[in-house]
Amino acid sequence: MIKDTDIFKIRDAVDIYLIGEDILQIYFMNTRKQLQFKANKLTLLLIECIDGKKSILDIKEKLEERIDKEIDLEAIKQVFSHIFQKGIIVENKSSLHEPYISDEAKERYDRQINFFGDFLPGATRKYEAQQKTQESRILIFGCGSVGGWIATELAMCGVENFMLYDGDNVEESDISRHIFFEDKLIGDPKVDALEKYLLKINPHIKIEKYHQFLMPDTDITDLISRADFVVNTADEPYIGHTSLKISRECIKHKKAHYIAGGFDAHLASTGELIIPGLTPCVDCYADYFNEALKGWKPKPHPVKERYQEIGGLSSMSLFSASFGVIEIIKYIAGLTNFKTYSKSRGEFLFDTLDINYLDVKRDINCKTCGEIVYEEA
Ligand SMILES: [Zn+2]
Repeated sequence: MIKDTDIFKIRDAVDIYLIGEDILQIYFMNTRKQLQFKANKLTLLLIECIDGKKSILDIKEKLEERIDKEIDLEAIKQVFSHIFQKGIIVENKSSLHEPYISDEAKERYDRQINFFGDFLPGATRKYEAQQKTQESRILIFGCGSVGGWIATELAMCGVENFMLYDGDNVEESDISRHIFFEDKLIGDPKVDALEKYLLKINPHIKIEKYHQFLMPDTDITDLISRADFVVNTADEPYIGHTSLKISRECIKHKKAHYIAGGFDAHLASTGELIIPGLTPCVDCYADYFNEALKGWKPKPHPVKERYQEIGGLSSMSLFSASFGVIEIIKYIAGLTNFKTYSKSRGEFLFDTLDINYLDVKRDINCKTCGEIVYEEA
């Protein structure tokens, strides 16, 4: 309910154009949404007055001065209500109670917080989104090119709690593919090397490290239950197996997770966000592939050691990692209504720049996720 003393301002990332005499074109820079509506002279004057300082009563007075006529307050409030609902204006933040974020964080994440604001109604929800991001505890299996870059980008977004799981040590060939590994770290555990890099970005980050391999009998129940969000990039012994193990445990604990793509046969695949009870789980994907490949008989490859012939390009891996972080941030910061979410895994094609998405649906009879009921985060 809008009050006479409320103060509003035009959103920072909104541009307004006048087409002809009376058509207003609104352009939202961050979401690329566009709106158009017919506006009378009074509405045009009113919008000119919304400066983040004047209250609705002040603006009424100002308009009456301009046109030398009394104006109905309710009519003005109706215009405010309309453009507020459309997200064109927000309450002036100085007049509101804001969720707690330190001044340092406000300054550091200023651009990002404003970006969040364009996906959320009102003026304070963007701070809540930043607060949620900072407080989330992210468990990452696999700290190689994709997992390490996901951790790095999340740290840049403000995530301050990580659990890093990887049994590997840094090797010579890692140096050319991973931003956070350097020559002097060869031989060190990858979790240690990544920890050093994340702390350079933000010394407040808290990190739990697990320098061990994920095996079929490894008990990950405790780790999953303590995480807010789980990422899998562990491709050894095989990404399909680690993903099944992790996804089943996550579904049991109702934890959203991301199965990243971006390596070996999945180079530049987008990976998939899995929300228990809402999206397909890894078993749903497995069933989809079993059905799609029905009748296909694998023929043994004549070359046994194919590893060296499998290509890689760091930009393709980083594309997958960045794509994954966009999805993860949307989830942990609460920026998207996932009930309308419909994207499955996609494959980004280097030559045409197309992304081909698979059409995988959640199987309501799935033995892993079929009976799970979605709970909003
Ligand atoms: Zn399923």
